[in-house]
Amino acid sequence: MHGSSPPLPQRAPWHEIDLQDYLSWGWQVKNRVSGAAELEEVFDLTDEERQGLSQTQGVFRFGVTPYYASLADFSNPDCPIRRQIVPRPAEATVQIGERADPLGEEPREVVPNLVHRYPDRVLLLATDRCPVYCRFCTRRRIVGRVERQSTRAQLAEAFEYIQAHPQIREVIVSGGDALMLGNNQLRYVLSQIRSIPHVDIIRIATRMPVTCPMRITDTLAEILAAYGPVYVMTHFNHPAEHTSVAAQACARLVDAGVVVYNQSVLLRGINDDVEIIRELNRRLVRSRVTPYYLHQCDLAEGIEHFRTPLSTGLGIIDGLRGHSSGLMVPQLCVDVPGGLGKVTLVPEWVVSQKGRSTTFRTYTGETAEYLDPSE
Ligand SMILES: *Cc1c(COP(=O)(O)O)cnc(C)c1O
Ligand code: SF4
Repeated sequence: MHGSSPPLPQRAPWHEIDLQDYLSWGWQVKNRVSGAAELEEVFDLTDEERQGLSQTQGVFRFGVTPYYASLADFSNPDCPIRRQIVPRPAEATVQIGERADPLGEEPREVVPNLVHRYPDRVLLLATDRCPVYCRFCTRRRIVGRVERQSTRAQLAEAFEYIQAHPQIREVIVSGGDALMLGNNQLRYVLSQIRSIPHVDIIRIATRMPVTCPMRITDTLAEILAAYGPVYVMTHFNHPAEHTSVAAQACARLVDAGVVVYNQSVLLRGINDDVEIIRELNRRLVRSRVTPYYLHQCDLAEGIEHFRTPLSTGLGIIDGLRGHSSGLMVPQLCVDVPGGLGKVTLVPEWVVSQKGRSTTFRTYTGETAEYLDPSE
């Protein structure tokens, strides 16, 4: 990495390792903290966290890169980074309404690991691995289960399907974290997709700029740019994740010609506050990343303690629209249960409607009338 390097964490077990190692994504992934005993060396765990770690074994994998763990508060269990990393016992309980497959992906899996829900785009789940297993993950039924990527034979089936369906204009490469694929495998996947003439857009879904920004090397940026247009959808949830290294990772992509968008998930006690989202989006836009969706938490099993009511998200959008640059206002998105698709919600701006006349309230609370054309 060039520019300013992240300092080594000032804390055991990482304060004495080689900085070059620390800055390599391979080292970060290989040295993930992946068990309770190891985490005990890093954080001062509470009893509730210890119970969470033991009760979620077999429910959803635990794992975090040294880099991402070092962003958390070692002593405060309510730290917004730490809450994304360390399971709580509530995760082991399925609440009413929750589903293993909240987005109905399995019925729409047309060939292994390829989900075709919308007419013109498909979702390729190319790996089940992630550098950090986020406690609120919606795809927890498959993510981290076996830690492997699709085989070339499985991928070949997916490419054949895309080839045979000319209505497909966009391929979203996701997982898991799509950038857990090594450079060679990634080149292979991108080149195969790009060789299909009717595909316009390749989208890459990755949390690497957040959880392991070392992955975003110059070589990676060159690979992505070579198969453009490539859109990278990343996933920052909190301003504390937007470190200078993370900002550099985003800049490296944008400089190479990759378009970068962000999707956040609204999480109770972590970012369910207009000032937190405003600060996050301000930083993102400054680093040339556009906020795309603010996702309502899905009805995945065991994550009710992260969910907010729909009114919270609407209140956040209301607090942003007009008060902040429109570049910083994402769409509030609900992926409705059962896999019927995403919908977006906006606060109620229309006060009344009569004939040709619509009365709006504006961000200042004033009202104004708009008249439709007479014809
Ligand atoms: C979210 C999603 C997409 C992309 O939706 P956009 O609204 O275009 O961002 C496509 N396919 C599946 C299966 C999805 O879940
Ligand atoms: S990076 Fe994405 S897929 Fe992986 S655990 Fe986090 S939310 Fe789930």
